[in-house]
Amino acid sequence: MTIPSPKKYKIDRSIKIDRKVLSGTLAFKDIFVGFDKVDAVRQIFGEKTDEQLSKLKVEVFPREGFMGVSDEDGHIFASQYYIRNGAMWSVYLDIVHELVHVRQFFEGKQLFDPAFAYVDRPTEIEAYQVGAMEARRIGMTELEIFEYLEVPWISKAEHLRLAKACNVLLDEIVLNRDNAKTAGNTKK
Ligand SMILES: [Zn+2]
Repeated sequence: MTIPSPKKYKIDRSIKIDRKVLSGTLAFKDIFVGFDKVDAVRQIFGEKTDEQLSKLKVEVFPREGFMGVSDEDGHIFASQYYIRNGAMWSVYLDIVHELVHVRQFFEGKQLFDPAFAYVDRPTEIEAYQVGAMEARRIGMTELEIFEYLEVPWISKAEHLRLAKACNVLLDEIVLNRDNAKTAGNTKK
């Protein structure tokens, strides 16, 4: 959430997001176009991709916030403010994440199992893993993925645990940070 956004990532040209969306309940495909063409999404749903995305609904709520999936009927809810103002790559990756939860819901999995802390919940780990792999594919660095995983409602220790579960190359991040420090020092 802390990454400056103007950088271009390699998001497929087929992807279009209706940033001017109004609040209300809409068909997923009317807001999020082209996701059925993305390999990561096709891997989530397999041969059911077209069927699932065609019937999926999105409840756009007119407040600040992010996105989630209903554990009552598996629809996505999303902040209109976030769809309008969030960085494109961030909204894109969050949708991929939520689509994992949609599939989990239809598999009968419990999305919000209170037996687990957020970052240890198997449903969250899978969704973040798929998101992190897609983040790499569109050209994000390990550090950028690490920062993407730093969501506001988790602690520093939980953030680290989540990054490890997503196979973020933490050694590489430390190395790059040290190199950047060294480079900064020599300039002084
Ligand atoms: Zn989630």
